[in-house]
Amino acid sequence: ERIPVDAPVAVIGLGRFGAATAGQLNRLDREVLAVDTNPALVQKWADRVTHTIEADARNPEALRQIGIGEFQIVVVAVGNLEASVLITANLVDLKVPQIWAKASTQSHGKILARIGANHVVYPEAQAGTRVAHLVSGRLLDFIQFDDDYAIAKLYPPKVIRDKPLGRSVVRTKYRVTVVGVKSPGKEFTYATEETVITNHDLVIVSGHVGDIERFASLDR
Ligand code: ADP
Repeated sequence: ERIPVDAPVAVIGLGRFGAATAGQLNRLDREVLAVDTNPALVQKWADRVTHTIEADARNPEALRQIGIGEFQIVVVAVGNLEASVLITANLVDLKVPQIWAKASTQSHGKILARIGANHVVYPEAQAGTRVAHLVSGRLLDFIQFDDDYAIAKLYPPKVIRDKPLGRSVVRTKYRVTVVGVKSPGKEFTYATEETVITNHDLVIVSGHVGDIERFASLDR
């Protein structure tokens, strides 16, 4: 089922994760209904998102009264395992077509997926992996997509410097693609076959995570 790009979103739970999600959706001009059991949080968010409601989403009747079944996209941003499982099950019962749920552990995520959550996100695990890549010092920035694919910012290894990119066989040999280049004091530009990278530049590469890691560990 195709969901309109402007479909309203319900966010259940206004903790750190849910609040960030609801706040960003609001900045993206999306209609947001935020639900929390905590009246202070509901009050705090009342003028920052379209609607706020104090309710316990574990209760199917409460969800029905709020009209959650009308939403095509619902985010379950509750960390507590039992509550998040119950809420997700309620949303599946209400036939919400797109359920996003936050999991705190892999087991939690497995249960949510098994119940019927369409997208399971692991904010802590993901942030930890990312920070490890940054702390290791080889990558200056790192964004990982599904299926092990990523984009990273790094200092260029010797193998791609001082000759046109087209001649460095970086794609066939290291299975990464140089997407962009930033020279000091300039904006990022797209890399072409003719681009010559120097040791003062930064590069953006894309590829599988393991390939990017191997590429980033080459001599600089
Ligand atoms: P984070 O780690 O992102 O801060 P928390 O799990 O600490 O997430 O916060 C979850 C939020 O969800 C809290 O604000 C809490 O009041 C709310 N919440 C917990 N249980 C329910 C529920 N059954 N229905 C609605 N909101 C809930």
